[in-house]
Amino acid sequence: MEKEMLALVKRNMGPGYSLEKVPVPVPREGELLVRVEAVGICGTDLSIIAGKREIPLPLVPGHEFAGKVAATGPEVEEFSVGDRVTAGLVIGCGDCPYCLEDLDTLCDNILETGIHVDGAFARYVKVPAKVTHLLPESMSYEDGALLDPVASAYRAVKKAAIKHGETVVVVGPGPIGLLAVQIARAEGAGRIIITGLPEDEPRLSRALLNGADEAVSGSAASVIASLDQITAGRKADVVIEATGRSSALEVCTSVLKKCGRLSIAGIFHENPPVDLGRVVRSELTITGSICYTIQDFKDSLTLVCEGRINPASLITHRLPLEDIGDGLALLERREAIKVILEP
Ligand SMILES: [Zn+2]
Ligand SMILES: [Zn+2]
Repeated sequence: MEKEMLALVKRNMGPGYSLEKVPVPVPREGELLVRVEAVGICGTDLSIIAGKREIPLPLVPGHEFAGKVAATGPEVEEFSVGDRVTAGLVIGCGDCPYCLEDLDTLCDNILETGIHVDGAFARYVKVPAKVTHLLPESMSYEDGALLDPVASAYRAVKKAAIKHGETVVVVGPGPIGLLAVQIARAEGAGRIIITGLPEDEPRLSRALLNGADEAVSGSAASVIASLDQITAGRKADVVIEATGRSSALEVCTSVLKKCGRLSIAGIFHENPPVDLGRVVRSELTITGSICYTIQDFKDSLTLVCEGRINPASLITHRLPLEDIGDGLALLERREAIKVILEP
């Protein structure tokens, strides 16, 4: 067993990171050491590396991963060395009122791998066995790594409670939006329309290959007008917001029919303005979702395993950990959708 490993370490606030040799973590009670075989770069990682998010320093980011169990700590019975696994990022305390209702994503004392504790931009990562899941034999490490964004998108789509044949608009063709399209299709949606900005064209074309019926891009006003035309004025039953940009909320509430449901998955960094008058007059329902519960993760694993959605269709680049700088640049320039690192 190696004693040292290469890892991306965030040492200071402000932009930047270093690639360093650090000690391989030692699993404690109830923990596993996982040899990372694939780890995705996510929007959260971009904001951590850019220094835009408060985190404990130093930190190894990275939470969308899968790999092989390399060692087990004391009191671990469900996993053995060599098992192929992935893990959810949410580590609930198990004791608070939310954890007791299986709402670990809302835990009062939440810890998240790669955000509050060291993550997977490294050869090895240490995770609690209670948030770890065995990968079915047929599932690749890449699909296993992408279960994290799948589960986030799944929770947002589930909150919208799509009924068979309903018209669904997904706002924002980033990874969560593209996965929401696939999941909405699997959940029985009728027509699915995805919207984005003019620079999102390549991502929108990918959505058309993976479940969307139409794609619309342009200014807020032109997107609203196009959706009115496409739906012959009937508008959408459900809107899934997946941008995290407060300006998108105007589109979201404008394209919903009366009694429509808006599920918000984007994470806003400023206070979004919302016309609550419209919410009242049109009896709209708005729900938020953040990450996912252990059950959402299990349901997502089943969706992928049954071939009902294909998360690997999002992967545009595969790079060694040493080249993460290239991956970050590709994402900043919107030339990549999902970059997978192989540490
Ligand atoms: Zn993520
Ligand atoms: Zn808790």
